[in-house]
Amino acid sequence: MKTYPAEPFRIKVVEPVRSMKRAEREAAMKEAGYNTFLLKSEDVYIDLLTDSGTTAMSDKQWAGMMIGDEAYAGSRNFLHLDRVVKEYYGFKHMVPTHQGRGAENLLSRLMIKPGDYVPGNMYFTTTRYHQEANGATFRDIIIDEAHDSANRHPFKGNIDLRKLQTLIDEVGAEKIPYICLAVTVNLAGGQPVSLENMKAVHELAHKHGIKVFFDATRCVENAYFIKKREADYQDKTIKEILLEMMSYADGATMSGKKDCMVNIGGFLAMNDDELFLRVKELVVVFEGMPSYGGMAGRDMEAMAIGITESVDYAYIEHRVEQVAYLADQLLAAGVPIVEPVGGHAVFLDARRFLPHLEQDHFPAQALAAQLYIESGVRSMERGIISAGRDLKTGENRHPKLELVRLTIPRRVYTYAHMDIVARAVIELYQQRETIKGLKFVYEPEMLRFFTARFEHI
Ligand SMILES: *Cc1c(COP(=O)(O)O)cnc(C)c1O
Repeated sequence: MKTYPAEPFRIKVVEPVRSMKRAEREAAMKEAGYNTFLLKSEDVYIDLLTDSGTTAMSDKQWAGMMIGDEAYAGSRNFLHLDRVVKEYYGFKHMVPTHQGRGAENLLSRLMIKPGDYVPGNMYFTTTRYHQEANGATFRDIIIDEAHDSANRHPFKGNIDLRKLQTLIDEVGAEKIPYICLAVTVNLAGGQPVSLENMKAVHELAHKHGIKVFFDATRCVENAYFIKKREADYQDKTIKEILLEMMSYADGATMSGKKDCMVNIGGFLAMNDDELFLRVKELVVVFEGMPSYGGMAGRDMEAMAIGITESVDYAYIEHRVEQVAYLADQLLAAGVPIVEPVGGHAVFLDARRFLPHLEQDHFPAQALAAQLYIESGVRSMERGIISAGRDLKTGENRHPKLELVRLTIPRRVYTYAHMDIVARAVIELYQQRETIKGLKFVYEPEMLRFFTARFEHI
């Protein structure tokens, strides 16, 4: 029998949760317009909406919060964070930002000219928004396997080098300011990229004078998969693998709310001296002084400590294996999920879960809403609603993957919570044909999934 590592921590502070009656949840979901983003946190029993900013901090991080140096300039916590980012990520320069999208904004504004192309391994919502808002066309160059939820490729986040070469031949390298390489790929199911692929992308890009920027949001999870799956890396530490990964990038955007183990924060890192000068000018406009970006001193201290904790093998092993534990139970019951399971979440395949609903009736949105009503478990749609409309035609984009994401916060829930989630999903699967489709009653223009409202068809 497969075994799973026990929690590598003791619980020192607890936050009670409660489960409401089904009728109360039904009313709450209706009031939230069948959008799990609009539920009150208090009405949720087990919250798997996101792993973003939901991490439980350690005793050391909380202790760090008490030594926040809130000086407007030159905070000692910034100096600590700056040192840690350089040591663990290997880049020459960094500026803190309020979260990942703050870094994306700075990078996109400084690097992109109207008419450019930014290729990436599948899109991410805020990342693509900033690229497009600055006049670029996003081009998906992930391997085809990533779009097939049943394909068990070990590195489904890899870039297809032929697709990259084709784009270079088609538009010319001068129209490609950088490649955005996400490690891991959130929307593909938390799928990792191999070191071999990172190296090859870096080589091909540099041959053509194109820069490579990582979306490093879940880079530690990616490093764990490399250690487990890629030849010659079993004996390397997570810290060593992380540094090697980053050596194939010119810089990175980081959402500290994920693998830096804090509730808020992020950074933009880079090697180029001239770019750094321009970043320091622009960060003042959108975030704050280069020595705090959008962050309080105490939050920078917590992030510096979080980065050092994130590469601890016992931590990352438990984190990724807990996700696998949930996935293994669902697979054993025949529930369709994205395979192989990724690092931060289990993704239900709503197309196979609800074959009686066409994509324009929003199967993933409907499934997420119903899972909450039946169990109090909150999840998130990652399908047609998240994909938005095509900028030119105004039509709905129809992504191949129509998914519901059960995202596991770091160090927050136990295996017993995972058992409850598994049972709820399996019971819903057994009555799946009763689930009805949805239609919009309110559709925001940008990033619509956050605030859209729906009703049953
Ligand atoms: C969360 C996330 C971002 C954006 O980061 P925020 O801190 O939420 O602004 C960017 N890329 C990926 C892959 C993410 O998961």
